This record gives sequence, C-alpha cells and structure tokens, in this order.
Amino acid sequence: MEKKVRVRFAPSPTGPLHMGGVRTALFNYLFARKHGGDFLLRIEDTDQNRYVPGAEEYIIESLKWCGLVPDEGVGFGGPFGPYRQSERKAMYKQYADHLIAGGNAYYAFDTAEELDHLRKEAEEKQQVFSYDQHTRLSLKNSLTLSAEEVKQQIESGNSYVIRFKMPENTDVTEVDLIRGSVTFNTAQLDDKVLFKSDGMPTYHLANVVDDHLMQITHVIRGEEWLSSMPLHVLLYRALGWADTRPQFAHLPLILKPTGKGKLSKRDGDKMGFPVFPLLWTDPETGDISRGYREDGYFPEAFINLLALLGWNAGNDQEFFSMDELIENFSLDRVVKSGARFDPEKAKWFNRHYLQQKTANELATLFMPLLAKRGIEAATEKVVRVIELVKDRCEFVADLWEQGNYFFVAPESYDEKAIEKKWKEGTSEKLQAIVEVFKSVSDWQTTSIKETFSNFMNEKEWSFGMVMVPIRLALVGTSTGVDLFDICELIGKNETVARIQKAIDIIRV
Ligand code: GLU
Repeated sequence: MEKKVRVRFAPSPTGPLHMGGVRTALFNYLFARKHGGDFLLRIEDTDQNRYVPGAEEYIIESLKWCGLVPDEGVGFGGPFGPYRQSERKAMYKQYADHLIAGGNAYYAFDTAEELDHLRKEAEEKQQVFSYDQHTRLSLKNSLTLSAEEVKQQIESGNSYVIRFKMPENTDVTEVDLIRGSVTFNTAQLDDKVLFKSDGMPTYHLANVVDDHLMQITHVIRGEEWLSSMPLHVLLYRALGWADTRPQFAHLPLILKPTGKGKLSKRDGDKMGFPVFPLLWTDPETGDISRGYREDGYFPEAFINLLALLGWNAGNDQEFFSMDELIENFSLDRVVKSGARFDPEKAKWFNRHYLQQKTANELATLFMPLLAKRGIEAATEKVVRVIELVKDRCEFVADLWEQGNYFFVAPESYDEKAIEKKWKEGTSEKLQAIVEVFKSVSDWQTTSIKETFSNFMNEKEWSFGMVMVPIRLALVGTSTGVDLFDICELIGKNETVARIQKAIDIIRV
C-alpha cells in the first residue's frame, strides 16, 4: 500500500515569515491536499539564541490568513506532538548516542576560543577553517583523545558538542523531485554539529529525527537547504532509516524584481512593496515592516501570485483559486531556476480579485474605512459609489481615492484646470445652470442630463465650456466618473451648493 502523504512546513521562529517561506508552506499545502495527505506545522526552535518573541504567533496567523491551515502542528494539535522542537528536547539525545555508538559521530571538546583562533589563523592565510575530515584528527575530540580523557572531559562538565563524522571522499547521490539526481562529494562537506552539551540538538539532527518520527514522506523546502541534503541522507542511513526516508524537493529562489539576486526585505523597502504576509513590528527596535494584509491585498491574490513564483500549470492560465491550484499542482511543474518577483504583477492580481467581488462585498470592507474618516453613509449609497468607481481600483483603499467626492465636498480646486477651463463668463453660465438644476424635480441621472442638455441646446452654449468647470465644482479636479451620476448620488442640494461655492470662490 502507498504510504499516506505527509508533509511539513518547518519554520524557525527567528522573525517574520518572508513571502518565500509562505510559498514553501503553500506548495506543501497544495501537495498534501492534492494527494489526500496531511500538512503539518513544526516549529524548529532549537537555536534559542535566535528565538524572537512573537514570531511563532506571527507564523500561525499568517498561515491562517492565507487559508493554509495545518492538519497537525503547533496550535493545531495532532497525534505526533509535541510539534515544537524545544518541547521534544528529551527525545534527541538517544539518537546522538546511537550515532556515536555506530561510529558516525564523535564528541568534540574544542573551546570557542580555540576554534576562533584557528579561524583567525586560517583567515591570515586567506583560507577558511573547517572542522572536517581533513582537520578533525588534529583537533580535540573523541577521535584523538583516549577513552579515559573523553570520559574525564564529559564528567568535568566542560561543554562539548557531538559532530557528525562525514565519510571521507564519498559520492552521495539523491533524487530531488524538482532537480533530478543530485550528487555531492563528501570531501567538501564539514562535520556538522548535531548536538550540544546543553541538551539541545541542532537543526540537522532535530529535523531528520522529527521527519522520521512524524512519518514525513516528502520534504519540500527552499533551495537554501539543498546543500544540507547529503548530510540528511547520510543521517537517515546512519540511523537505520534509509528505507523510509522522505523524498526531497527543493524549491527555486524568489528573485528581486531586477532578476538579479535573492528577494530581500531591503528590495521591498526601496521599491515600496511588502515582502512579509502581515505587518511586523520588530520587538527589539520597534521597526515596522509592511505586510500584504495591511497593504490591502486579498489573501486569494497573495496566494495566486505566490503559486506562480516557480510553478505553472503548463498553459497560459494565470488566475487560480485555491481549489484550482490543488487540482493542477504538481512538483513536476516546479522550475529549477529562480523565479523573478514583479511587484506590479502583484497589484494586477489584487485588481483581478477586487473586480471579482460584488459591490456589496466591497461595501462591507469599505464602510469601516469611511467610518474611520468620520463618514456615515447609507449602505445603498456606498454600494452605488462602488459600482461606479470599482473598475478604477486595485485595492479597497483606492475606493476612497476614486470616490471620496461622493462623501465630502472638495476643499480646493485644481489650479491648472481652472486656468485652462474657467474663462470669463464661465461663472455666469454656471450660475444659470445652478438655477436649471434647482428646477429639476425628478433628481435622477437621466432627467438631470436631459434637462441640462435641453437648456444648453436652447442657449446654444457649448458643452465643452461648462463640463470641466462643473466637474471642478463637484470633484475638485477634472477627473471622476460620469458627471450626472455624481449629481444624482450626492443629491440636488449638495450639487447646487458645491457649484455655488465654486462660483463664489473661483469667480473670474
Ligand atoms: N527550520 C528550517 C527553516 O527555517 C526548515 C528547513 C527544512 O524544511 O528542512 O527553514
């Protein structure tokens, strides 16, 4: 019987989740759903020095906002818990011991000062110090000390680490589901620390042990972990788990908008786009990083744009709902090369999802923004305004940008437009039009327009002469939707008042 697919998203709570991390979560989620499997959230917090308060909550909230709700994990429960590695601490030691007993790991007693010294010495020779098969026999460890000395070191309470004993000059070949067969030679790999005398495992040991114990079938993670794959494969072998080890898939990097280099927070700051799903306040510095949610992106737009960073359905389709993504997703269609992020395209996706929403749905989102400005408006009016301006908007906040004049009278008038269009005689003509408007009894777009047109034709005045001035009076600029729609929606009294006010202020 095929094993049930089980995948995990395993972030370290070292700060806010980068959008690349959310994409990793998304691809894991899609893979799990596609294959009727489980999607887990495991928090990898073994490095207590890098622990950032609030990061874990941030990760969970981000996943929820995106609709990537784990089946098991921190905050979600499940039969393989605990899912926070710091709470699993006691489990790891036995595996480190097992590796030592099998000759696959050793104790190392070199102090931080000693290693620092070696690093500096190498640097002076333009070299890089590495604790590996070439140097290990000249260092202070259980390979070079006698059994008695080792015992003494451990018993004296001096801090030590347990390192993996990388096999010498061996090719390790493993299939990556995205990259195909990948071979690493161990001669270039160092003896990574697996366990520390404070009782904490490092990432590598904890990750492999947990993936095994949690019965993970596929490890889908970022490209930056590709270089760890040979060590992980060797650990599975050394622990006797080679036959049940998961398959690996390393996702391509997300590149800067220029296509050169990895997308970073700095790019976002410089070019004005978020790289994090939610707003993040650094608990130490108080620095704020913008988030997609707070910038007004819909989660479905964010998910859609992330899905296409390194994956495509093999055709031109660009808009995908979560269900369509699940249906179409496959690791075969994930590319190897980096995926360029385009912030303009991100907005384009949001625009699409905004246009998909009904005016009523948008009104629910827009009314609180109006309320914040102290504007109380009837839902019907808000819905009408949205119907009129929606196609000019990418974000809910744009509704205000595009429709504010429906709710508040302009406080100033575009100078350039006045100069160009408010000529001698304009004020008089507008004064006459005010009277015409006052006489309209059925205040509806069509009847206002009809009465106005009849009047203009009668007077033989050119429409071009008065349309921009009226618009200036109502909107403040020469932009906006159909003039008579504006008149109808703001009402007769307000229309008349605004035109009268403009005449009084601008009068040439
Ligand atoms: N804790 C690692 C991270 O922060 C997980 C890498 C993996 O998925 O193996 O990305």
